[in-house]
Amino acid sequence: MSGLDVSVRGQLLNLMTVLQVRFDLTYLFVSYYLGVVEHLADRVAVIYLGHVVELGEVPDVYGRPLHPYTEALPSAIPTPDPDVRPQRIVLQGSVSPANPSPGCPFQTRCPYVQERCRHEPPPLRASAPGHLIACHRGAELHLAGVESSPAGSGKEQGRLQSIGPLAQNPPLMPERSLNQNE
Ligand code: SF4
Repeated sequence: MSGLDVSVRGQLLNLMTVLQVRFDLTYLFVSYYLGVVEHLADRVAVIYLGHVVELGEVPDVYGRPLHPYTEALPSAIPTPDPDVRPQRIVLQGSVSPANPSPGCPFQTRCPYVQERCRHEPPPLRASAPGHLIACHRGAELHLAGVESSPAGSGKEQGRLQSIGPLAQNPPLMPERSLNQNE
């Protein structure tokens, strides 16, 4: 999707939203566009070097991140308003996917690294119902989140309002094609 023109990308996302609501579909959507993920997804998994480091509902992961990598991700989102200067988290350190470090995969770039992180891989475990993280310090860190958009809470209603009558009458996709898996 990254190679598409912005307007075509918007049309494609709208169509995906229409079909999702109309046919009660489940998508597995892989993207580094955090705003798009927030708009489309109910649950999100944050992956670093092939490891799931945080998994949960979108409002929880965006608003109350528990993993340092998740906290840093929104810093990479450009803002359209030149007067708005978001606080940036610039990760230091290096990363070598071909030669991964022992212990926590994020340890070479994590601002909260401790000795334990260097040799003991953190397991992915539940920190709260439905919210999993892989970090030794997840329970003690107080990380900054981003405010979820109105669609983040009551997302289904937000989607229906944003696409209006299209939810009941999706264009472009004949029932026959869907039924026959064409
Ligand atoms: S386990 Fe340690 S190095 Fe890894 S993310 Fe948590 S604090 Fe950072």
